[in-house]
Amino acid sequence: MPRFRAILDTMPAYKAGKAVVSADGRSHKLSSNESPYDPLPSVVEAIAEGARQINRYPDPASVRLTEALAARFGVPAEHVALGPGSVTVAQQLFETVSEPGAEVIYAWRSFEAYPLLADLAGAVSVRVPLVNEEHDLDAMADAITDRTRMIFVCTPNNPTGVPIGRDRLTAFLDRVPANVLVVLDEAYREYVRDEDVPDGLDIYRERPNVCVLRTFSKAYGLAGLRVGYLIGHEPVAAAVRKVTIPFAVNSLAQIAALASLEAEDELLARVDAVVKERTRVREALIAQGWEVPPTEANFVWLRLGDRTLEFASACGMEGVAVRPFAGEGARVSIGDPEANDTFLKAAAAFR
Ligand code: PMP
Repeated sequence: MPRFRAILDTMPAYKAGKAVVSADGRSHKLSSNESPYDPLPSVVEAIAEGARQINRYPDPASVRLTEALAARFGVPAEHVALGPGSVTVAQQLFETVSEPGAEVIYAWRSFEAYPLLADLAGAVSVRVPLVNEEHDLDAMADAITDRTRMIFVCTPNNPTGVPIGRDRLTAFLDRVPANVLVVLDEAYREYVRDEDVPDGLDIYRERPNVCVLRTFSKAYGLAGLRVGYLIGHEPVAAAVRKVTIPFAVNSLAQIAALASLEAEDELLARVDAVVKERTRVREALIAQGWEVPPTEANFVWLRLGDRTLEFASACGMEGVAVRPFAGEGARVSIGDPEANDTFLKAAAAFR
């Protein structure tokens, strides 16, 4: 029997959202916060054209995409690092800071990959419980020690959808020592409409120890191709690039991400439609008597405690896949109007 690292015995498994089908064949996947829209024809065409070259390795430095992102956000190209999904960029961040005893602080519950990546990298996870579905930033600052190397701040938070306001975030960052890296995980940034929620890029510009993580998987509809990126100061981006695996971002992903930036107006109009549906879904749930935290992402969170799995299976009977966290609650992505109506019917019947 080969001998594996001991941590593998206790590491949590990442549970990806699955689709379900009702007895009469209906299926609405609201379990992975994906875009409910078909890919744009211009993006599909660019991929088809790029497919003619797949006998060649991709550009290892993703130069065109890096430059396009730098131009889009008005940052130097040296401040951009790409990866196959922002979860991989997060993994690279863990690789850059982890050494025996290194502590990484994050809120809990938050993005499920954080504990997994910490264990893999050999870092010590310091989880700070949410309060009222929000980051407890005072407790997170109190948790900083000499061994703290990195802090993940997920805003809006997955799975509760609650973002962090400008003053609270700034006051927190003022308490973080300069040698601790703060990662603002903004996977859902494009869905934010509350003007009190700061753009992480404005914060990074003022603070050398802050970087921002974003993705093409959600608002840009490229979850299946895996492209994410970091924007951070030169030493941070350079460290992340150093620990990448060669050719990690494949050529079709690079092409599709570039085509998506070119079609950004169309994609952001779709995001507007999802935001409208989010308002409709949240208000309908509240009218049904549910408590729904104010979400700025493309999902809602229902705290269901012991009834979580029962709720998920009741939704499943209607062909609606949600993301249950046993004993805690369920996260439900905003889909197209038909999917949302089906979910709302299931939610009303469950109450
Ligand atoms: N961060 C957060 C907060 C997420 O919810 C997700 C996706 N569920 C990711 C990062 C990773 O996204 P991707 O790897 O598809 O870019």
